[in-house]
Amino acid sequence: MAATLIKGSEISKQIKEEIKQEIAKLKEKHNIIPGLATILIGDDEASKVYVGQKEKTCKELGIYSERIDLPGNTVEKDLLSLIERLNKDPKIHGILVQLPLPRHIDEKKVLYAIDPDKDVDAFHPVNVGKLMLGYPVFLPCTPHGIQELLIRSGIETDGTEVVVVGRSNIVGKPIANMLFQKKKGANATVTICHTGTKDIASHTRRADILIVAAGKPKAVTADMVKEGVVVIDVGVNRLETGLVGDVDFEAVKEKAKAITPVPGGVGPMTIVMLMSNTVQSAKMHGGIK
Ligand code: NAP
Repeated sequence: MAATLIKGSEISKQIKEEIKQEIAKLKEKHNIIPGLATILIGDDEASKVYVGQKEKTCKELGIYSERIDLPGNTVEKDLLSLIERLNKDPKIHGILVQLPLPRHIDEKKVLYAIDPDKDVDAFHPVNVGKLMLGYPVFLPCTPHGIQELLIRSGIETDGTEVVVVGRSNIVGKPIANMLFQKKKGANATVTICHTGTKDIASHTRRADILIVAAGKPKAVTADMVKEGVVVIDVGVNRLETGLVGDVDFEAVKEKAKAITPVPGGVGPMTIVMLMSNTVQSAKMHGGIK
């Protein structure tokens, strides 16, 4: 039986509507307009597209957006001064520095300079630590999107075996962290696989929920999953034939109970969760529960 598609493209629209209503209420009752600053350095084409999408979504939802495009030769000191200004700017509730940064800029220094209370990407070590301890201020956007996809698709995580392929700081580690917490939409037993894992298939075949963020097309094939698995494919790989995920979609969908497509799965959720964090930050700064 072919799998049910977990359509992030549709679920994200539903969340956008909820956010729009929340923003309207914030404006009406508290005269607060959430604000997001995005900083882009250099001419990376993919980064320009991502920043453009974020700006567009801000406009669509009624979030004040400040886009700052800087030349590729910007010096670290100037970037840090800009972040300092934005940290103090009351119109701005979220600061996002588009990665990757040019090589001459220390990424850690830049990300650590962002006020943790405006760190809507949740990359600051204070926010990573809070996530790990189980009382996050902001949830990182892609992992949060994955958790929302599971919850809103009625997929139970409590007591399940979750296997995550990939241990990056932006996807693998935080989603593993979120799903083993003793909380609703979590409470799973989590295994993380990476390139050092011996016999990955022996782990992935045990998964009730398999989350793949490897950045390699067909990193997971049909022989690596059990019948009835739920598959979340985070991968985005641009091939000559088009965009594909990390999972051999056509073959795996025949065994899975549910699966995310690429495109239209996890992708559209990431931006929406960024907007959600910005609104949450605006509420936090306004002292609103
Ligand atoms: P990353 O930083 O390159 O990390 C990839 C991870 O996968 C690493 O931990 C690596 O192991 C592991 N890995 C690679 N090949 C593997 C294999 N064959 N078997 C097992 N593990 C393997 O990537 P990322 O930033 O997490 O992103 C992963 C993918 O998700 C990319 O395609 C990216 O474009 C996509 N992505 C999508 C969104 C979205 O919104 N849709 C957001 C973020 C990322 P080692 O640590 O041992 O090297």
